[in-house]
Amino acid sequence: MTTTYKNFIAGQWVAPSTDAWFENRNPADQDDLIGLFPASGAADIDAAVASARRGFEIWKRTPAPARGDVLRRVGDLLASRKEELADIMTREMGKPLAETRGDVQEGIDTAYYAATEGRRLFGHTVPSELANKWAMSMRRPIGVCGLITPFNFPLAIPTWKAFPALLCGNAVILKPAEDVPHTSTVLVEILLEAGLPPEVIQLVHGMGEVVGKALVEHPHVPVISFTGSTETGRFVGETCGRMHKRLSLEMGGKNAQIVLDDADLDLALDGVLWGAFGTTGQRCTATSRLVLQAGIHDAFVARLTERAKGLRLGDGRKAGTDVGPLVSEAARAKVERYIEIGTQQGASLVCGGARAVGGALDRGFFFQPTIFTNVTAGSRLDQEEIFGPVLSVIKVRSAEEAFAVNNGVRYGLSSSVYTSNVNVAFRALQELDNGITYVNAPTIGAEAHLPFGGVKETGNGHREGGWEVYEFYSETKVGYVDYSGALQRAQIDNY
Ligand code: NAD
Repeated sequence: MTTTYKNFIAGQWVAPSTDAWFENRNPADQDDLIGLFPASGAADIDAAVASARRGFEIWKRTPAPARGDVLRRVGDLLASRKEELADIMTREMGKPLAETRGDVQEGIDTAYYAATEGRRLFGHTVPSELANKWAMSMRRPIGVCGLITPFNFPLAIPTWKAFPALLCGNAVILKPAEDVPHTSTVLVEILLEAGLPPEVIQLVHGMGEVVGKALVEHPHVPVISFTGSTETGRFVGETCGRMHKRLSLEMGGKNAQIVLDDADLDLALDGVLWGAFGTTGQRCTATSRLVLQAGIHDAFVARLTERAKGLRLGDGRKAGTDVGPLVSEAARAKVERYIEIGTQQGASLVCGGARAVGGALDRGFFFQPTIFTNVTAGSRLDQEEIFGPVLSVIKVRSAEEAFAVNNGVRYGLSSSVYTSNVNVAFRALQELDNGITYVNAPTIGAEAHLPFGGVKETGNGHREGGWEVYEFYSETKVGYVDYSGALQRAQIDNY
């Protein structure tokens, strides 16, 4: 019996107005149908916005520490359902259980951080320029927030957005990626079980070009937070700009790991294998370029190739799997196109380069871990986000040249440098044009309590995570109280 899932709108689980549904299948095994999910329409977004506006009126008046208490219970419930959620995620997007457990943990950490923020949400008290006058700033909720999320962190990314938005007193409409609708369904169940008033959260499933677009274009959704590709983010940004919406964009990456001649090579090797092939290369922070200094280049490539060939592909729910499938056939076809492009542009394929087939692998979207060497700065392998298990190796002569290669792309999410020279490490922190730089660690591994995001075409200046995201989801208001009993005119004849 196929399970049919619903939207959550106006406090109820409801079928979409379209009466249309889409299938959610396991990318490791296309015979495994997870369920049918709503292919909603613009009318469902209208209903969700109407409900969220009612929810906002209740929630914005709930004291922030009480809102935080709800989020603490959410953290507890996520922790108690960690294994179940990890399994749901692996089944619908493919990455191994160890990684989806980490995805859940990030949600738990984000919930507990949000819970404590309920007792901070600091404003400032500032001396006034006038006698007997009080000056202060405070934080206010904004309204209905539309959250549009990608497939690769099915739980963590919705929590990065929803928890701070809710803690700040906003109502939320979540539009998850169509590849991973099951995880966010359980997330909404948990929010409700934790005591969130029903109309404060809405879940609308469906295609990005239909419901995502309708959400972005809705006049009563003043805040949009989008994570996904730079191409989609551009559309979203154009609409939000025209409509004067507050917008956070987290988009593509082309992240480099730099290994200099003086690096600990064993450490760098473990780092690049995890950074490049973890999540099948489908992390926004995945290592897609390896920049090697000439002195260690050949020996490092030899060791790396050998290790990459030993990675075990398979169903992420089975013990021993290192690398799961790509999320979809379209994603695999894109990777395949880049094998052709790389070869045409003169790069040398030293590992992988083809679909992984045979036995159970035939039922999923598997692709061999792939390494290209002789990649030149400026070529398409160096410049374009592939979002799959493809690593491009670029040889450089010096740290300066490595920094220039890192910076020579339109993206700027994360970077990493392996060196034993502390001076070079600090120069890298200063010189690399990224939102995150790791020293002697791979390009992946953000922590929930620090700001996360990128520069250039990766983002638009906002950050998720940590303390900064609370500024995005709240409006600053200034209050003056004049207790002098007289008319005092600021900036005029006071001195
Ligand atoms: P995507 O852009 O295809 O989809 C992201 C979301 O946008 C989905 O929910 C989708 O339904 C929706 N969408 C699609 N068209 C839309 C439209 N016209 N209007 C509104 N919404 C629309 O991205 P994806 O394939 O799910 O994720 C992969 C991309 O996400 C990669 O580029 C990756 O780098 C990026 N990403 C970035 C970060 C970050 O923090 N910088 C994190 C994770 C993923």
